[in-house]
Amino acid sequence: MSFVVFRGLLERTGSPEELAAVLAHEAEHVIQRHATRAIMRDLTWRAVLGLIAGDSQGVLVGLAGALGELRYRRQDEEAADSGALRTLQRARLDPAGLLRLFRTLEKESSEAPGVIRYLSTHPPLRQRLARMEELVARERYQPLPLLPAQPWPPRDLCRGR
Ligand SMILES: [Zn+2]
Repeated sequence: MSFVVFRGLLERTGSPEELAAVLAHEAEHVIQRHATRAIMRDLTWRAVLGLIAGDSQGVLVGLAGALGELRYRRQDEEAADSGALRTLQRARLDPAGLLRLFRTLEKESSEAPGVIRYLSTHPPLRQRLARMEELVARERYQPLPLLPAQPWPPRDLCRGR
């Protein structure tokens, strides 16, 4: 499994734990095949419309549309959040990392709506944050620092274009 992390996300994380939490969350979408199902749902719907309209290109247009505007369902988001928490717990990483990032993104989205693409694919943030706060409050262990004494974000990763 490979990830592409955009500089904007990296710079918005306040610690390596926050980045680890996002990666754990995205990994859960892959493991639980949420993207595949979202594309298939969209494709099926558009293919049906295409057939009704007698449009043989409807399926191809549907695929392009699905890839361009992928939306996870709320239950997929919650499943990915829960899975990410379990992953962080197994690695003994601070589960509050994801909460801190959610709060940062929520604050930014109220200041600059529509700026962050991550948010547009991950609604509804406020309800998820409340649920996560509840789940994180149940985690009782001493988290291990991921990259102690390391400046964050790492300068060599965020160097010039
Ligand atoms: Zn997600």
